[in-house]
Amino acid sequence: MIQSPPPLRPRLSVVAPCYNEEESLAAFAARMTAACEGVVGQAYELVLVNDGSRDRTWAIIQAISEQYPAVVGVNLSRNHGHQLAVTAGLSLTSGERVLIIDADLQDPPELLPQMMARMDEGYDVVYGRRTQRAKESAFKKLTAGLFYRTLKSLSETDIPLDTGDFRLMSRRIVDRLNAMPERDRFIRGMVAWLGGKQTEIAYDREPRFAGQTHYTLGKMLHLATDGLASFSTAPLKLATLLAIIGMAMAGLLALYAVYGFLFGHAARGWTSLALMVVGFATAQLACLGIFGAYLGRMYMQTKGRPLFLIDEVVSRRPHPVLSVPEDAAGEARGG
Ligand code: UDP
Ligand code: MG
Repeated sequence: MIQSPPPLRPRLSVVAPCYNEEESLAAFAARMTAACEGVVGQAYELVLVNDGSRDRTWAIIQAISEQYPAVVGVNLSRNHGHQLAVTAGLSLTSGERVLIIDADLQDPPELLPQMMARMDEGYDVVYGRRTQRAKESAFKKLTAGLFYRTLKSLSETDIPLDTGDFRLMSRRIVDRLNAMPERDRFIRGMVAWLGGKQTEIAYDREPRFAGQTHYTLGKMLHLATDGLASFSTAPLKLATLLAIIGMAMAGLLALYAVYGFLFGHAARGWTSLALMVVGFATAQLACLGIFGAYLGRMYMQTKGRPLFLIDEVVSRRPHPVLSVPEDAAGEARGG
């Protein structure tokens, strides 16, 4: 029996970033492919991006790509971080719709039919909003909650609360997202910025299938500053605010000094002086730090380096995007 080749443009592409996910991958691939087949039959592709894992993740992805023809395995040259791994995956997709999902099964693949149904109503983006975060630490929940709320109040873009990158997007949104050249990618913010018709589906975030979170405190802080610095210039204005307060205080101080001089107790006040020196020095350092955060990002951006480097792509099926030279996708948006 001759099988007809799958259509060139799949109806659905799924992108899953994988970093040290050797224990979750088999279960993830099984559940994800089942969910896709339930909705679009064979007309999908599953892009698994290995983000420089130090365990057997890449070997497992290669094996999975042998087992499932829909799987496209992508090996990045090193660990680029979650957001860039997703970016690399997105650049290789060709589907009419694209789903971003974590490989650790915290986002349930079984939500796909519901998301597809919402898209059929004419939405450009359907994102998952986390109602519960089972088994995540109280610290993570608290910091994440605080971060999303601070960002919302400071940002001019309306970034929805408590959403991750788990979302289904139209081709149009993905093409526009791929065309955005910024390095410090806070994808959920960028998608919100793109606008169009967006809606949410609430879901309970499950515990990890296996292993530990790879978002260390450092990576979380980095993502949070990327989110803030990419979507708000409010922190920069803090310097101006502090300067105004400082000037007011200096004015009062001048009056007090004149008064002290006229009535003869000028030598006193060492304590307040010391406190003020420390106070102003701290405020200045804080402002310098804020400038540094933005300046550093501008510096990195002006270098125009490629966002990611792909070493290898494996797939059993011919793939429209894969005929492009390997590094082209990354290079195209570095500059
Ligand atoms: N991930 C990645 N590169 C990294 C860190 C994480 O590709 O440097 C992937 C990871 O394999 C998972 C997803 O990004 O599929 C989310 O990471 P994680 O589960 O560690 O974060 P959390 O869900 O705890 O926020
Ligand atoms: Mg996770």
